[in-house]
Amino acid sequence: MDGYYRRIGGITCQEGYYEQVSHFDDPHFFVSGNLALNFIGTLSGRRAEQRDMVRTPAALGDWIRASGLLDRAPECDDATVGDAATLREAAYRLAQAAMAGEAFPDADRRLVNTVARGGIPEATLRPDGTVHHTGSAAHALAAIARSAVELLGGAERERIKECGREGCTRLYIDTSRGGSRRWCDMTVCGNRAKSAAFRARHAEPA
Ligand SMILES: [Zn+2]
Repeated sequence: MDGYYRRIGGITCQEGYYEQVSHFDDPHFFVSGNLALNFIGTLSGRRAEQRDMVRTPAALGDWIRASGLLDRAPECDDATVGDAATLREAAYRLAQAAMAGEAFPDADRRLVNTVARGGIPEATLRPDGTVHHTGSAAHALAAIARSAVELLGGAERERIKECGREGCTRLYIDTSRGGSRRWCDMTVCGNRAKSAAFRARHAEPA
């Protein structure tokens, strides 16, 4: 266990921590280059040790605020958490289909379309030149679904990739020239994968 995961584990165990510091203020949670993909990344370690970072109403509200969708964490309850997880997993399966060059699963496509038809957060330009984002958790989920629709129906669909570090499974858009980006986040996954490879190369024979 390294510091990154220990920190996540500590926070998910201590609900009160949310009141003081948001772990989502760490930029690592928003490295995918797309709102929907960032949200898909809230379930990490998909093939092994899964961690759902928005499994409580407080954590979901906090993620929505930290994502910039709303200025304040919206009211969320267990039903909102369930709706968010349903949307996230449908969007994930659609992204997987896009990466594999396969047809979109119909039920998932319909679900994301339905959520995307909802109202999205309001944006208001203030005299000081800042933007005020207001709305509900449902508005935020609609914006996420819309982001998924635009991504999966556009040219960037071809650039969706999964992080190359074993166990990460985060998706991102590779905007590098020649499509050479290998990690969701160089400072976390890139360095860890490189040091793991270094250790493997220099390991003493058993
Ligand atoms: Zn990664």
